[in-house]
Amino acid sequence: MLTDEPLLFDAPLSHSEIVQFLKEDDLAALAKLYTTADDVRFLCVGDDIHVRALINFSNHCRRNCLYCGLRQGNAELTRFRMNENEIISAAIKAYKKGYRTVVLQSGEDELYTEKVICRIIIGIKQSCDIAITLSLGERPYKTLKAWFNEGADRYLLKHETSDPELYEQLHPDLRFDHRIDMLRNLKEIGYQTGSGIMVGIPGQTYESVANDILLFKELDIDMIGCGPYIYNPKTPLQAATPDENLYIQPKPEYVYKVVALSRIVTRDTHIPATTALSALNPELGILSALSAGANVIMINETPEQYRRLYEIYPKDETPADILSPENPFETIEQLTGRHVARDYGHRHL
Ligand code: SAH
Ligand code: SF4
Repeated sequence: MLTDEPLLFDAPLSHSEIVQFLKEDDLAALAKLYTTADDVRFLCVGDDIHVRALINFSNHCRRNCLYCGLRQGNAELTRFRMNENEIISAAIKAYKKGYRTVVLQSGEDELYTEKVICRIIIGIKQSCDIAITLSLGERPYKTLKAWFNEGADRYLLKHETSDPELYEQLHPDLRFDHRIDMLRNLKEIGYQTGSGIMVGIPGQTYESVANDILLFKELDIDMIGCGPYIYNPKTPLQAATPDENLYIQPKPEYVYKVVALSRIVTRDTHIPATTALSALNPELGILSALSAGANVIMINETPEQYRRLYEIYPKDETPADILSPENPFETIEQLTGRHVARDYGHRHL
C-alpha cells in the first residue's frame, strides 16, 4: 500500500510513482487517487462535460493491426462505406441534436482521398457551426495540412503503446517512429491532437503504461483516449489464455487508474470516458471514469444501419446505451450532476 502522504498537485509524478499506482490494489489508496484526479480535473478544466458525436463512416481498412476487427485480413466482416452526402447529413443531424463536435472516424480507407475529405469538411462547415475531429489513420503531411486549412479542428491518432518493439509486433505495416512523427506534425500544423492507448493489450507492462502517460505529457497531447483492449476472436492477437472462453479482460479498475494518472500528469487535457469502457462495465464504466478525471463522452451517432458493422471488437456497446441517444445532454446532466457544455469544447491553451 502507498503511504498516507497527500498527493501533491504541483510535484510531477515520476515513472516509478506511476508504476506504483498502477500496481496498487488497496481500495482506500485508489479512492484517494480518483479523488485527487477529480480535483485536478475540476481545477484545470472545470466541471463541464464535453459530448462528441461519433460517426464511423467506413469499416474498410488497408492496415492489419493485430487486435482490430477492421483489419484488412478479416474476411468475416461485412464492409460498408457511407457516401459524402450521408456523412454530411449525419453531421447536420448531430448538430440539430445539440452536438458541437462531430468525430469522423474510419479504417484507413484510401477511397476517401484528400479531395473527398476536403469536400466533406466544407459541406459540414457550410451547413452548421460544429467542430470537426478526424480519426482517419496515417495520412501524408500535405493531406493533413489541406484538411486543417479547410477547417478540420482536431485529429485523433493513438500511439497505442510507447514500447517500440511491441508497437511493431502489433502493427506489421506501421512504424512506431513514424506514428510519433505524425503526432508531432499534427501539433505543428495546429490541430488539437489526440493520442491514447489500449489498456491491457497482451505484451504491455506497467512500466510501458507509465511511459505512455509520460509521453502524453512530453508530446503535449491535447486529448487522451485510454480504453480497455477488448479481445476480438476474429483477429490474430492471441487471447491471454489459450481458451477463448477463459479470456480475462482487463479489469475496469485498471483503466480508471490510467485515466486518473493521465489527468494528474497532464492536468488540462481533454480525457474521454472511452466507448470501450462500456463493453467492460455497461452500467458504470463511463460514470466511474468521469469521477476519476475524465471530462468528455463520445456518443455513437453512426446511422443505425451501419452501426453494427463497425465491429472493432465484438459487442460494440456504446455509452449511448445508458445515456439515452435521443436525449444525451439531459441524461448525462442527470446522471453526473455536471453541466454539459454547449460550445465547441476546445482545449484552452
Ligand atoms: N483507423 C484509425 C481509426 C479507427 S480505429 C486508427 O487506427 O487510428 C480506432 C481505435 O480503435 C484504435 O486507435 C484502437 O485503439 C481501437 N481498437 C481497435 N481494436 C481494438 C480492440 N480490440 N479493443 C479496444 N480498442 C480497439
Ligand atoms: Fe485499421 Fe485503425 Fe483497425 Fe488498425 S486500428 S486495423 S488502422 S481501423
